[in-house]
Amino acid sequence: MSLLTVGSVAFDAIETPFGKTDKIIGGAGTYIALAAAFYNNEQNIVSVVGEDFPEEMLNQLKDRNVNIDGLQIKKGEKTFFWSGKYHNDMNSRDTLVTELNVLEHFDPIIPEHYQGADFLLLGNLSPQVQAQVIERLTVRPKLIAMDTMNFWMDIAMDDLKKTISMVDILIINDEEARQLSGEYSLVKASKVIRAIGPKYLIIKKGEHGALLFEGDRVFFAPALPLEEVFDPTGAGDTFAGGFMGYLASTNDISFENMKRAIINGSALASFCVEKFGTERLMTITKADLEKRIEQFVALTNFEMVHAIS
Ligand code: AMP
Repeated sequence: MSLLTVGSVAFDAIETPFGKTDKIIGGAGTYIALAAAFYNNEQNIVSVVGEDFPEEMLNQLKDRNVNIDGLQIKKGEKTFFWSGKYHNDMNSRDTLVTELNVLEHFDPIIPEHYQGADFLLLGNLSPQVQAQVIERLTVRPKLIAMDTMNFWMDIAMDDLKKTISMVDILIINDEEARQLSGEYSLVKASKVIRAIGPKYLIIKKGEHGALLFEGDRVFFAPALPLEEVFDPTGAGDTFAGGFMGYLASTNDISFENMKRAIINGSALASFCVEKFGTERLMTITKADLEKRIEQFVALTNFEMVHAIS
């Protein structure tokens, strides 16, 4: 199937208890595209970078069959820059710098040959831009998923809620779910958020896994217990890219298949955090991914032999 992804392609500078990077390549769109590239889909990206963005990375995306015709390169302008610092628990972070640069006036132009996309993943971007993308598609995709972050809740809550009302799946973390709903209990939060519009809600809980809500059904997937988490940046986007990449490649949007998609996303995210930035995702193979998925299956699989009498 075809998967259209929209998301930032960026420079990041990251600080964790393990070390610090200078400007490295990041961006939600980059992580999504790299993760979704593990699945057999036609993958198209809409994004924007400045003249300073390395061509080599664009070639890396092309090598992975990501169509970048919709990735605008703005002459004389600078690429979006984000910098963050993780706390010791690695589950929370502070944003140090957000320089919107080319994202400030981003006009998400959809190339004609991208029209008719079966699946759409809206990476974390301004909710106005996310809505514009939906409005510019001549045919509504079979499934629309979106990610967002506290940054937009702080400055554009009304627009954000409007965009959320237009999608099928919202993918956010626990802190964001609490902020968006005003509820501490994630079960209560899930009801408030789904009342805005989306049929499905995925709440990511970092090292504590992810929850999928639909109707009265809930599915929980663990995160793989890792000895060392080096850098969580992009784990959420990688999760979303794996989730949608899997759904699109299987062309099955049943709740049962969404469970498998969540495991795929979680497995890819578990690789992402093992090195700084996109480094680990760039080097793993499909065989590595399959092995890790088996680890996930083993992690939660058990047989109940003694019935309660
Ligand atoms: P994650 O760790 O999954 O939340 O995503 C981190 C990525 O999001 C980084 O690579 C950043 O470049 C990107 N990012 C951070 N803030 C924004 C923003 N306001 N708009 C778009 N992308 C962002």
